[in-house]
Amino acid sequence: MKFLIVALFFLTSSLLQVALGQSNDSERMPKSFMTPEGRVVFVDFISADYEVTYDLLGKKSVVQARIKFHQYEAGFPIYDSVEEILGVSVNGEEVTSGKARTPEGETTVRFIKKSLPRGLHEAKISVPLNQLVQYTSKGIRSAFWTTDLEDRGFLERYMPANFEFDQVKMKLMVHFKGISQPQKIYTNGVVKKLHKDQESYEITYPSYFTSSSLFFHTLPEGSTNELNFSLRSLDGRMIPVTVYTTTTQFPGGTNLEVLKNKSTEYFHELEKDYGAWPHDGLIVYNAGMGGMEYCGATMTSLSALGHEMFHSYFARGVMPANGNSGWIDEALASWRDEGYQSNSSLMGSSRMSAHPHHTRSTDMNAYNFGERFMQYLEGKLRAQGGLKPFMRFMLEKRIFSPFIIENFIKEMSEFYGVSLEADFKKFTYGEKTIFNNKFLSSKKIHQKLTIQEMEKFL
Ligand SMILES: [Zn+2]
Repeated sequence: MKFLIVALFFLTSSLLQVALGQSNDSERMPKSFMTPEGRVVFVDFISADYEVTYDLLGKKSVVQARIKFHQYEAGFPIYDSVEEILGVSVNGEEVTSGKARTPEGETTVRFIKKSLPRGLHEAKISVPLNQLVQYTSKGIRSAFWTTDLEDRGFLERYMPANFEFDQVKMKLMVHFKGISQPQKIYTNGVVKKLHKDQESYEITYPSYFTSSSLFFHTLPEGSTNELNFSLRSLDGRMIPVTVYTTTTQFPGGTNLEVLKNKSTEYFHELEKDYGAWPHDGLIVYNAGMGGMEYCGATMTSLSALGHEMFHSYFARGVMPANGNSGWIDEALASWRDEGYQSNSSLMGSSRMSAHPHHTRSTDMNAYNFGERFMQYLEGKLRAQGGLKPFMRFMLEKRIFSPFIIENFIKEMSEFYGVSLEADFKKFTYGEKTIFNNKFLSSKKIHQKLTIQEMEKFL
């Protein structure tokens, strides 16, 4: 009963926060800064409704976004879109959009050229959808695939979005115009067909999603081979799983049974180590080299499948809030790939945690030096059970609650009752990266595709 009251208290206080437009998102919000036009400020997106219209005959596609956001300080509100803006309005007033580099030149942001006071606001922004869209005789091939190894590589490639720190309730309305046969949609949200006779869909995503969470791939029906099955989770849920490939990549038949068996094997391995599968489903698109992770979904080569499914726990379960925290999940995933090794010493240093404040991409050294750092921590904490108990603790305590690196160090220090700050400072806050090249892993399974390479796998 006491537990119930406590639970009710937390539930109502978090509902109250939502009602007030507040959330913990503000705690990890990047710092605002000055531009020649005035002060630009990060904001907290409350919801983003996207209307995506694919026009096969006109060979063009557009995204219209309606974003409700909470602003905590006065200034020009920041968002981002790689594509140039077609139009923007805020609180019903037509305005224009600006673009600025962050103070240390780490990245680029867009902002609404209207200084707004603190409070709740609503913006409507439209952009062309040009990346990863193909117009074919059979229909549309399109995807919103991302990368964390390049700047501006998340949802902002395709539509107006916030930085990765922000959890946003997202909805996609998708219309296919001028097509003659049905489209197939693979996505990690709930899909509803809006009209029996029209190719229009509404997709809703869990409210814990950020700009790096969403998996979306559409192609004409008949372009894929898929296998659907379900896996029983430790907590009793039946998790629906879809594994698929395209017929163009595997014209002579597919390896769907192998994909099924491997997904099943990794699913049980990960549940045994880290508890029940964190998401409502699992989608595996077997394509390309290496892979990329999403919440309960991945586009991956067979060799990287275990690595990418691990990321549904660390990366898309325990979520990084920015570039300086992004290396943790790659280091942990690589540490798993290499068989959870332990080491008593470590030479060298890196700046994985210490890139300029607004950095959005992950330091590549996560895969080699980061992995060695996890080996070192495993060795150091061996008497206390090593790293796995802490990883399980993080999933219990901080799942779907994006962290900055300082949060992670604090949690780890508290968990083991010993400060680990000096280790992180020495090995991850260096001025530059210095380490022996023999650390470089020969395995290349964490390779991530560029957007040009992704075109081939639509
Ligand atoms: Zn990875």
